[in-house]
Amino acid sequence: MKIAIIGAGFSGLAMAWHFLQSAPNPQITLFDAKGIGGGASGLAAGLLHPFSGAHAKLNWMGREGMASTLKLLKAAAAFAGEELYQQNGILRPAVDEDQVKDYRQCAEKYPETCWLDVQEVQKRVKGIAPFPALWIQDGVAVDCPRYLQALWAICAAAGGEFFPVAIQRLDELKEYDCVVVAAGAALINYPEFQHIALKPLKGQILLLEWPKQVPPLPFPVNSYMYLVMDRSRTLCWAGSTFERNALSEAPDMETAKALILPDVFKLIPDLAHVPVRQCLAGMRAVTSDHKPLYGRFGDKLWGITGLGSKGLLYHAYCAEQLVKEILDTL
Ligand SMILES: Cc1cc2nc3c(=O)[nH]c(=O)nc-3n(C[C@H](O)[C@H](O)[C@H](O)COP(=O)(O)OP(=O)(O)OC[C@H]3O[C@@H](n4cnc5c(N)ncnc54)[C@H](O)[C@@H]3O)c2cc1C
Repeated sequence: MKIAIIGAGFSGLAMAWHFLQSAPNPQITLFDAKGIGGGASGLAAGLLHPFSGAHAKLNWMGREGMASTLKLLKAAAAFAGEELYQQNGILRPAVDEDQVKDYRQCAEKYPETCWLDVQEVQKRVKGIAPFPALWIQDGVAVDCPRYLQALWAICAAAGGEFFPVAIQRLDELKEYDCVVVAAGAALINYPEFQHIALKPLKGQILLLEWPKQVPPLPFPVNSYMYLVMDRSRTLCWAGSTFERNALSEAPDMETAKALILPDVFKLIPDLAHVPVRQCLAGMRAVTSDHKPLYGRFGDKLWGITGLGSKGLLYHAYCAEQLVKEILDTL
């Protein structure tokens, strides 16, 4: 079975992995001009939990998504023989009355979460300003670039091929039994998908030097913005922006600083004036109902997109569903 996948982000690689698990003798060919994880997936901060969004409500298919993603994370880590993620929990500080109300409700309703008072929060995170918080017990921080490389390594070991090229037109792939477009926000560049209501939403993220006098964060902190330590634990990713109608996909350090840093300083005052090392930018794909979109779009054509800000939560689950659907059809 000859399978072409356009896009080597979370969606495309999860599709490849699931085909390998369940298709009869799959020959997988992956295309992406930006390389493995060269799009939004490779710069994602790595937060994974099912209570994201302003109101910390249990996300659509949140528990199912967590279970599916953890399965892939474990497989990738076992294959790579290294730690690709840490499941140390995620803290959501409540910095205003709206958040206190929403986050408290979440803590009362869902057993995976609990409410922490200011004293407990400051015991767990040195240097944090005095806010109570929602604690998400099973929250995960993923090293996204290395996770994506490990997923691809599994596929390559099973004979998968990768071509670092852009596919301009889908009829270039006529020889394949099945074509899956997993091109994120760029999916609607193909005429076959132009009827989909998909909006690009630019996101930027900043790499900050962590102050020497403050112990590194033991887990990600996520309020109106988030902070996630990088592997070195001397640097920290701060994100992200949500820029509708952005004119360019390119990083714009000044805009990112203006949108992100005020909320960072409110949470960790010692971060004021730390050097900013880098700014990265990517495009999320958002559907009108903010849910992922996947299914059949033509004779041998399928698509998966619309993962929005929750690519980690949804890629494995949606890919698993879509691979089942494709194999039932073919
Ligand atoms: C700053 C930022 C931070 C984020 N942080 C998080 C986070 O912490 N947790 C989380 O769950 N989500 C996060 N996200 C969201 C997450 O990155 C996306 O949901 C996810 O990347 C979507 O994955 P995808 O594979 O569908 O799309 P993408 O990652 O965009 O992959 C699509 C790929 O298709 C390729 N492509 C496009 N056109 C073509 C073509 N014509 N030919 C060949 N290839 C093509 C692109 O190069 C790209 O690599 C973040 C997003 C941003 C921007």
